[in-house]
Amino acid sequence: MIYLDEAAGRWYADGILQAAASRHFYTFNLLRKETWEPVVRAWETEMHAELWSRYQLDNFGALLVAAFRYAPDALPESSASRAERGLPALPAVSETDSRACSIGRFARANWYHEVLARLSDCARLVTEEAKSQGKALFPPRQWHRFVNSKFPEKALAIAAGLGTIGRNGLVIARRTDLTGFFDNAGRGATAGEAGWSSAVVLGLMFLPFDFSPETSLPPRNILQPLALCGSCTSCIRACPSRALEFSEVPAYHRESCIQNYTSSAGLMPESVQKAWGRQLYGCDICLEACPWFKPDSAARSALGCIGGFFDAAAISEMSDDQLKLMLKGSALDQKWIEPEALRRNARLVLQQRGSAET
Ligand code: SF4
Ligand code: SF4
Repeated sequence: MIYLDEAAGRWYADGILQAAASRHFYTFNLLRKETWEPVVRAWETEMHAELWSRYQLDNFGALLVAAFRYAPDALPESSASRAERGLPALPAVSETDSRACSIGRFARANWYHEVLARLSDCARLVTEEAKSQGKALFPPRQWHRFVNSKFPEKALAIAAGLGTIGRNGLVIARRTDLTGFFDNAGRGATAGEAGWSSAVVLGLMFLPFDFSPETSLPPRNILQPLALCGSCTSCIRACPSRALEFSEVPAYHRESCIQNYTSSAGLMPESVQKAWGRQLYGCDICLEACPWFKPDSAARSALGCIGGFFDAAAISEMSDDQLKLMLKGSALDQKWIEPEALRRNARLVLQQRGSAET
């Protein structure tokens, strides 16, 4: 592993943080390997994830942890635009359509790919600047980027001081304000705390070098879970399947959570089926109920825009190949989302709609 000396480390740290700010990440920070390694090791042990050998993490250096605040909604891409790309039209319907099944707000555009693209921009911007200034060069392909990954993204975000965990088990992120950090006198000053939002997608970028202990990085203000929750119980009351519980620590019961079943066609408890509502994918009811759920109405992505509502009857009759083609490039274009699970979800929506109307 390459350790940058103090001057080079400082140049790279400043450059990466400025690049993250310029690409409009809501919150971000750098972690030395000595800080992120125990978090990943503990997760690996708990989850039997074998991350170290799989990704050859010995070669990874410091880590940029970042969160992007997504938009409250995304319009589905037009049929004409999709046809130009060889993709079929989306079975999009309005929210009030009696056959509408819903997609979580975080998946209405491909915010995962948006985050990856913005992390790639950061690597490219810093590398180009390093080249122009004759600094040590690390090609962007050595900057390893992950989103929606097997890494403990939430735990790493907390370790980086990016926010806290709410009763719904999700990160409530604190906006990074590096005002004063980059001028020499103010370097190391505490970043401002100008806002919070749980409408974020997390991303990781492992760097091909590490910072020496002499290089000052932004402070990490570690927050305890529930630091912002107080006596609030909004998410617990909103959850239709009672997967959340009031407790001293976040108490989330995965086996009762609708989202836990949306991507897999296996069995599910009857209580979850009964509480299903109209989810196709991405239950975010507990997230939307949170007073800290503040999407960014200025956020934009041209990637994978599928909108929020599909015709459940159309989805329930699509073949595997049709579903895969239709969802290509979207946030639902994931290996672990089984086409049969989506058809089953759509059938559940239709059944519950039918029961409600009789
Ligand atoms: S994702 Fe849905 S089912 Fe799961 S805890 Fe939140 S509201 Fe409940
Ligand atoms: S809804 Fe209330 S209790 Fe739940 S995460 Fe948000 S602030 Fe915490």
